[in-house]
Order: sequence, then structure tokens, then C-alpha cells
Amino acid sequence: MSFESLGLAPALLRALAEQGYAQPTPIQAGAIPLVLQGHDLLAAAQTGTGKTAAFALPLLQRLSGAGATQTRRPRALVLTPTRELAAQVHDNLRDYGKHLRVTSTTIFGGVGMGPQMQALRRGVDVVIATPGRLIDHMQQRSVDLSGVEVLVLDEADRMLDMGFLPAIKRILGALPRQRQTLLFSATFAEPIKALAMQFMRDPHEVSVTPPNTVAPLVSHHVHPVDASRKRDLLLHVLSQDSRRQSLVFSRTKHGADKLVKFLEASGMRAAAIHGNKSQNARTKALGDFKSGRVTVLVATDIAARGIDIDQLPMVINHDLPMVAEDYVHRIGRTGRAGAEGLAVSLVSHEESGLLRDIRKLLKQEIAITSVQGFEPSAPLRLDAGAPRPVQGQRQPRAPRHGHAGHGNGNGGGHNAGGSNRSQANAGRNGRRRQRPGGATRPETRG
Ligand code: AMP
Repeated sequence: MSFESLGLAPALLRALAEQGYAQPTPIQAGAIPLVLQGHDLLAAAQTGTGKTAAFALPLLQRLSGAGATQTRRPRALVLTPTRELAAQVHDNLRDYGKHLRVTSTTIFGGVGMGPQMQALRRGVDVVIATPGRLIDHMQQRSVDLSGVEVLVLDEADRMLDMGFLPAIKRILGALPRQRQTLLFSATFAEPIKALAMQFMRDPHEVSVTPPNTVAPLVSHHVHPVDASRKRDLLLHVLSQDSRRQSLVFSRTKHGADKLVKFLEASGMRAAAIHGNKSQNARTKALGDFKSGRVTVLVATDIAARGIDIDQLPMVINHDLPMVAEDYVHRIGRTGRAGAEGLAVSLVSHEESGLLRDIRKLLKQEIAITSVQGFEPSAPLRLDAGAPRPVQGQRQPRAPRHGHAGHGNGNGGGHNAGGSNRSQANAGRNGRRRQRPGGATRPETRG
């Protein structure tokens, strides 16, 4: 299968060759011909599958082709849940469209409205927006959506999780009925189907990854540890290879900031990315991480959603996510496109119930090994009666002592000097657990 055989224009093929893409990913092979034919599309694909190019390439082709009118109104609208994802879609559109004359702009919160209004006034072909800020522009009458021919809902499931349904419905009401609608979602849960039924015309479905599976090249490791010793163990794991780039997840924004301070004080180059940071600070942190100036990026779930980093070797969960599906989203950042990835979770006794949920969901082995010098005072409880912390419960405070685990010379590759005491393994027969309704994820709303 080649990009040529999908019917893409020479200018796009050239850009793809320059990007170094040798062949289409499965979602691209499935979706591109259907979108080029003008069909509505329901695509089940998560970050890391190449989904952005799956809609961006045929979109660019349509907007650049014959019949393009000289209009100042946007002809395509891409809605994304977060600012970061909007910025990345924008970057990708520019990369793939570099030999075309298709213009695009982003519309999201956290930055001034003025420059966005000016860009809209000058006229653009594609608007990539988060729903909240787009509504602001609609209210100010600074955006005219009556010329939109193609609507893309990217990571639709996440937009609904974040409570954007009313905003999406309002935006849909401002679009022409005669249009092409492309909906990308990690899962086709009931609310997504309802949205599709209501707003799409006879959509074709493409599904490449079974929902809630992660790249098979990722190996999963759990290190049981007392909550109070987690950050020392984190430092120990990171110190095994201080040049390796790692994305570290913290459950809270405050926790992320504290971790960065601790890591920096210990000599690591770290930065935080979360919803309390200004857009500029987030863009800088991501840029520094991508360029290698920073080797550890500490993120909260929402901020990390959709972060596009090629071949990230390691994802570390300093805290387990409250919702098992988020484990899959987090780990989706490693082991992409054939590269091997490593997922390491530091799990305290109090998180036993969360780990149990993840093992149920994941259809892959998880190696559970304690690390020498960091053995927990209480073992993980992986039986059915294991406690599950309630949302918002705080970890016990870490004592203010030094980092005992640092450079103790016991490094054993990615097991972080682990003594390989295998406690248990393998969650099979994964079953979807309902995401608790109305999960609050307000950090990066546009
Ligand atoms: P996405 O799922 O859109 O976030 O894309 C994940 C990553 O795969 C991005 O870094 C893309 O640049 C990259 N990518 C997309 N399509 C291809 C392809 N056909 N070959 C190689 N890499 C790709």
C-alpha cells in the first residue's frame, strides 16, 4: 500500500516524502479514499495511529483542488478538545500542506482574542478550534461559519468527557447542513453514536485499533513503593539513563510542579505542562522537551492529551490515573509506529484498586517487581477487595529527605535495578469499565 495508490495529489506526496513517511498507516489507508470520495466518516482511532494525517491529507486536497473559491470565510473547521491538540493539528496541516496554498489558523483560549480576530478577518481556509473559544468568537460575530464545507471532530470522546457537548451542538447549528463531517474518537461509546446519528449523513465507519488496547511493543512495569518514597524512586528510575526522554504523569497540577522542583533540585532537566500554565509556558515546555533541552516532562492527563512526540521511549506514572482508560491514553504516547516503548508505574498500596482496574482493561502482561531499596512496607492488594481511593484523595506527604535511591549503582536496565520479585502479572480478558459520569477535566478548555 502506498500513498500514491490512495489518490493523493503530487504536492501532498512530495510533502509526505519530505516528512519521511514511507507508507500509510492502517487508519490512513482506510479513511483517505473514503474522505476523498466525499463520504461522512466515523473513525475509531486514537493518538499515535496517524489519525491526524488521515483527515488532514484529504482535507488539504479538497481545499486546494479545482472548484476552490476565493472566499474569506473558513471552508473547513477542525474541533479539538485541547489547545495543545489544536496547535499540533495546525502544525501537521502546515507540514503536509507546505506545497499548497491552503491557509489555516488556530482559535483557542488562554491567549488574546485580538490576533485571532485579525486572522479571521484576513481570511483563512481552515480553522482549528477548541469549542469554548470558538463560541466566544461566534458571540462576537468575529467568525462566519456559513461557508464550512468540512467539519472534523477530533478526539470527539474526549470533547464529550470534558462537557463540550452543548458547545458542539451550538457550533453544529451554525454550520451549513450540506457539508462533510468526519468524526474521530478512541471509542464509539453511546453518546458518540448518538452525536453521529444526529449530525452525520450515512457515515462510513473505519476502525483500526480495537478500543482500549495499547501498542503491542510497549512493555508494562509496575514498581510497588510506599507513597512517601515515590519521588525518590522516580529519580532512581530516571537516573538509569539520564539522556533518555521521559514523560512523567502526575495526577494533580500542584503535584506536577512539586515534582519538577524536586527533579531540578536533584540535577535533572525537567519541565511541567498542565492547565495552570500559560499557553506560552506550555508551548515552551513542549518545545524544550522536543528539542531535548529538557529530558523529563511532567504532565497531567489533560495537558498531555494528544501531545505529539515521535518515538518517546518511556512513560512513567508517578501516580496511577483515577480512570483506567486514561492509562491507555497515557501509554499511547510511547511505542508508536513500530518503536519499542516502556511504561513504568510507581504504585503505592493505596492505589491497589486502580491497578486492578488497569489490569482488567489491558490485554497485556504487567510485570510487577519491587526495586531494591524501595520495597514497600505493605504489599499491593490485587484481589477483589482491594481499596480504591476516592477522587481527590491525597497521597500521604513525602517526607523532606534526600533521594536515597539516586545512583546506588544497582541499575538494571529498565527494571531500574529491580530485584525482580515478581508479585503477579497479566491482566487478561479486558473489559471496558464505564467512565464515571461528568469526570471533571476543566484544565485546558478552550
Ligand atoms: P497522530 O496519531 O496523528 O497523532 O500521529 C502520530 C505520529 O505518527 C505523528 O508523529 C505523525 O507525524 C506520525 N505519522 C503519521 N502518519 C505516518 C506515516 N504514514 N508514517 C510514519 N509516521 C506517521
